[in-house]
Amino acid sequence: MVHSQIISALPSSFEKARTAGDLLFFPSEVHEHEDCGVKFEIRLCPALLHKPNIPTPHFDAASIEAAAATKKPDPFAPPYNSTLYVSEFKDEDEGIEYAILLNKYSVVPNHFLMVTKDYQSQASPLVPSDLKHAYSILLAARKAGQHFFAFYNCGDQSGASQSHKHLQFIPVEEEDGPPLERVARAAHIESEYKPFALPSLPFANHVRRLSISPSASADELEHKLASAFMELLDLCISTVRLAEDHPAGMPSYNVVLTLQHLYVLPRRWETHVLSATGDKLSINALGFAGMLLVKSHEELEAVRLEGPAAILRAVGCQSVHELQVNDGPAVDDSV
Ligand code: AMP
Repeated sequence: MVHSQIISALPSSFEKARTAGDLLFFPSEVHEHEDCGVKFEIRLCPALLHKPNIPTPHFDAASIEAAAATKKPDPFAPPYNSTLYVSEFKDEDEGIEYAILLNKYSVVPNHFLMVTKDYQSQASPLVPSDLKHAYSILLAARKAGQHFFAFYNCGDQSGASQSHKHLQFIPVEEEDGPPLERVARAAHIESEYKPFALPSLPFANHVRRLSISPSASADELEHKLASAFMELLDLCISTVRLAEDHPAGMPSYNVVLTLQHLYVLPRRWETHVLSATGDKLSINALGFAGMLLVKSHEELEAVRLEGPAAILRAVGCQSVHELQVNDGPAVDDSV
């Protein structure tokens, strides 16, 4: 119930926040570019040239303490801006409280966040309750005839700009989700119960098909999502260990969740320097979902020239699928 109320409240909350000037909406246009079998959507948003750049936070305990000492405001801590606030709820089993907030700087209407009310680190993995509620929101949207997907940027190099735990939700026009989802849906896999990888992509990607009935109980939902996530996280850690090009330190990764698939994409770096312009392009989970954001025509052309898949390879990890199949945890490589 609470999840469907979030979906139904979105359009009016978005308009209200925008009219009040609390939500800044940046118009954009989408350019398609096909690469490695993915129809990438490169969103050109010149207005972002004027948006202040939020420096990437560091998620280690010392940096968080230092930020707290300088009283750097945490935008996801209560009290919330009343027009950006949509609702809140509590997971009764885990006792975790969440707030739903509209994204203050929106490029896509109705982009919203699910934040923990108590501070939790964005470097911490998703917990079963996070996954269950995120999935329930996606289900509620589908019941209302809308299509959203969720994403999570975890760790220093993941493209996250806030250190307080937040999952994000973006609407998509098509039922088959973001560009990456179309590739995963087309993949023929041997078993629905094991992780797989999309071999046409030049970077490490770990995917699990979710065979979840829309009438699944909350417990079943939580169990299936949590075990799928743990399997993918194990593979992500194994990739980071085996990939020769992964830097030392805490692994960062992106998570993408649709009604049919859960993806974990290990990261090496947050940004890529475009060779044609020298501009730094910050990439988060949206990039790996197949949706890149650029601020100028020059950047757009530079991304086309270099190729989105190569850019993702540069900030992602080498695929060590073969090594994992031979030496590491069991993986289904039947795609
Ligand atoms: P990320 O950059 O992926 O960590 O996502 C954080 C999101 O929070 C960004 O898309 C920002 O636009 C958004 N954001 C930043 N400050 C606020 C705020 N005060 N209220 C709501 N959203 C915010």
